[in-house]
Amino acid sequence: MKVAVFSTKAYDQQFLEAANSSYNHELIFFEARLSFSTAILAAEFPAICVFVNDLLDARTLEILAFGGTRFIILRCAGFNNVDLVAAAKLGMKVVRVPAYSPYGVAEHAVGLILSLNRKIHHAYNRVRESNFSLSGLLGFNLHGRTVGIIGTGKVGLILGQIMKGFGCHILAYDVFVNAELEKIGGKYVELSELFAQSDIISLHCPLTPETHHLINAESIAQMKTRVMLINTSRGSLIDTQAVIDGLKSHKIGFLGVDVYEQESQLFFEDLSGEIIQDDVFQHLRTFPNVLITGHQAFFTEEALFNIAETTCANIADCEQGRSCANEIK
Ligand code: NAD
Repeated sequence: MKVAVFSTKAYDQQFLEAANSSYNHELIFFEARLSFSTAILAAEFPAICVFVNDLLDARTLEILAFGGTRFIILRCAGFNNVDLVAAAKLGMKVVRVPAYSPYGVAEHAVGLILSLNRKIHHAYNRVRESNFSLSGLLGFNLHGRTVGIIGTGKVGLILGQIMKGFGCHILAYDVFVNAELEKIGGKYVELSELFAQSDIISLHCPLTPETHHLINAESIAQMKTRVMLINTSRGSLIDTQAVIDGLKSHKIGFLGVDVYEQESQLFFEDLSGEIIQDDVFQHLRTFPNVLITGHQAFFTEEALFNIAETTCANIADCEQGRSCANEIK
């Protein structure tokens, strides 16, 4: 099937072309991000393939449908960027890659925890400048600390397993209990208890109307002083301004984020020669106890391989009119 692939980077093309060698779809790669103004590029393509920051709102979907697009192929798990109601009204089928790197994402969350705690990002710069002083680099043992995990699906469970290995106590909150987490000693509690008891809080739930700004002034007030907050899930789980206030008042001791509310204006692009216009982001990155990565938690060889394989299989299911296990209904 002929597919317009949006937001293409060289690595996407490399892995998709390799996977496609056994499918022979006609993949046409566009660097442009999909939005209202670029949707015209997909005219007469029955399918489009998109990633996390492509915007599939109702008016974009209408242009796509008008141009003959019937299949939305997400090469990611999250689908908060798609207006599913509008897609259904337009008779479009939406498929995704439900899991591609839960280990990669959980391991990246651990990387943020370790780096923030032991200040490895500061140590790296100091040693390069022959500054071997330890002042300001004091960390704490993870052993014996309490880690609160919000969202205990694939990534949250793996994070729990890894942190259990460090000797941490695991508290959890989810709308469903994951028996696997309980098996390793994870204890499900109310959100308020998780906020009050955790030394480290890590977010692994999807972005939905219920979880939007889950971390806000009120929830931060319930947390321990010097709490470490980790977000590798979706930026809008956090009210960024409330977190900045929490950092300024020293309530939040550490912040590690791989995602950011307004990341679609920034992430995945080399803006090193540009003036960044987002003052909130600029403020956030001035804090010495904040570590930001640009939505790279998923970015492992295994993930790109899995994304490409599942995407090509999903396209084949759509083309041949088969039911697809990865369809979002
Ligand atoms: P998953 O679907 O396996 O798990 C999500 C869990 O969140 C489920 O157990 C679900 O019950 C729970 N949940 C849903 N609503 C909730 C609520 N209101 N409160 C608490 N828990 C709730 O997903 P996953 O594969 O573990 O991924 C988790 C998130 O990680 C995804 O939603 C996605 O946004 C994000 N993600 C980020 C990257 C990255 O590169 N940074 C990569 C992949 C996924």
